[in-house]
Amino acid sequence: MNIVQSKTSQSSLSPELIAKFRNIVGDKYAMTDPADIAPYTTEERDLFHGHSPLVLRPGSTAEVAAICKLASEHRIALVPQGGNTGLVGGQTPHNGEVVISMRRMDKIRDVDTASNTMTCEAGVILQVAQQRAAEVDRLFPLSLGAEGSCTIGGNLSTNAGGTTALAYGVAREMALGLEVVLADGRVLNGLSKLKKDNTGYDLRNLFIGAEGTLGIITAATLKLFPKPRAIETAYVGLKSPADALKLLSLSQNEAAGTLTSFELLSEISVDFSIRHGIDVRDPLESKHRWYVLMELSSPRDDARATLEAILAKGLEDGIVDDAVIAANLSQRQAFWKLRDEMSAAQKPEGGSIKHDISVPVAAVPDFIAEADAAVIKQIPGSRPVSFGHLGDGNIHYNVSQPIGGNTADFMNRWHEVNKVVFDIVLRLGGSISAEHGIGVLKRDELPDVKDKTAIALMRAFKAMLDPLGIMNPGKVL
Ligand code: FAD
Repeated sequence: MNIVQSKTSQSSLSPELIAKFRNIVGDKYAMTDPADIAPYTTEERDLFHGHSPLVLRPGSTAEVAAICKLASEHRIALVPQGGNTGLVGGQTPHNGEVVISMRRMDKIRDVDTASNTMTCEAGVILQVAQQRAAEVDRLFPLSLGAEGSCTIGGNLSTNAGGTTALAYGVAREMALGLEVVLADGRVLNGLSKLKKDNTGYDLRNLFIGAEGTLGIITAATLKLFPKPRAIETAYVGLKSPADALKLLSLSQNEAAGTLTSFELLSEISVDFSIRHGIDVRDPLESKHRWYVLMELSSPRDDARATLEAILAKGLEDGIVDDAVIAANLSQRQAFWKLRDEMSAAQKPEGGSIKHDISVPVAAVPDFIAEADAAVIKQIPGSRPVSFGHLGDGNIHYNVSQPIGGNTADFMNRWHEVNKVVFDIVLRLGGSISAEHGIGVLKRDELPDVKDKTAIALMRAFKAMLDPLGIMNPGKVL
């Protein structure tokens, strides 16, 4: 089904113009064959389908600049793409735009352990960046389920959050400098390693979270952190989100800055993951209504004792019903696999209407209770599947179709269900997009929920940086 409407139309690409683009990147890296292009025009969940006459795979900033200059001269719309793991349709060419795949720009240009920085090209895979940091005894803490295929450029363009935002912040907080190619082909050279640089407006932050609508990020200087000496992970069974909130508060007090992840998982999300994930096992012997996957990362060897003390207190206070601490690395990986498989595990259950929301942390239990009641009333038999980053007030609130129901009929109610959920989110002071972005999925809702002056300023920045509207048109705004 098509859950988005087209907003723009692409001017046609003549064979001569295709040849000019081809000259910039070289024959091998300009694709026009529909079979080669297909992987770039849809995404894994099959929610968004686009089409494109041309996919370009530039290998350098100079090539990206030449592409943008030529596109600008001929008013050709471009869609930047990294790992194509985005969840809001931002990387899909919905209207026949030219796709600029950044995956070939995958060099790590510099690692500086004295300054604690690493400069990566936009196409570096997140996991590769993490591994490189580990090799020099540092941590690059951004971590998410798609880390084996998403790219640094995509992470910054979506301002990705993930499972460690609780301790280290979101992608925005991990970037010191950016190199960006503007719509007209000019290069903004901002690859600064400086923590302190008060020389005017913060341009870097304009491009982070812009989802490719203001320019193409070609490289970034990222912050590195000390590598934890001890990581301890627990999988906890409990009765309610309210108890999970109490456990969060207890953990933050006891573990101070060493609490790095605190994920809330509903029973059904765990069931789906065990049923449909490959090699996913339930770490606990009996079933619980809710679970928490929590992790402590410490520069000292005290993480285990701290975690045991937190769980003992939780059991004593009646907050925790059961818990297991990973005994070794493979058990820790098994706990995280159960969590990481959750997004994919909803697909075999039929249609799933997605929400990536945030509310103040204290309001999460009320949000879940109200949203569950409202969507079940709206579509009897529908199955709320909530899980996510409780420590950040960020819940992936998905709704699976009733068992045996008609998938197309259910998915046609996408925006209707969104409205019910978003009304609750807004009443509780939350956001309709916590970490996945706006893309096309939430584009039409954005003007209704965002401050009018903020929307006007966003439009003004867009008009200034991309006056011809060629940079990922129809996304965000
Ligand atoms: P793409 O999907 O290719 O693009 C995403 C957006 O960025 C598009 O608008 C695109 O135009 C733009 N873009 C890409 N590269 C550039 C560039 N170099 N310059 C300018 N614009 C660019 N996200 C989270 O935040 N937290 C999670 O926990 C999380 N978990 C996920 C789990 C799974 C299983 C999956 C499939 C996705 C998950 N995501 C999560 C969403 C996704 O992985 C992130 O949004 C990621 O940051 C996207 O990176 P990408 O390289 O795949 O970008």
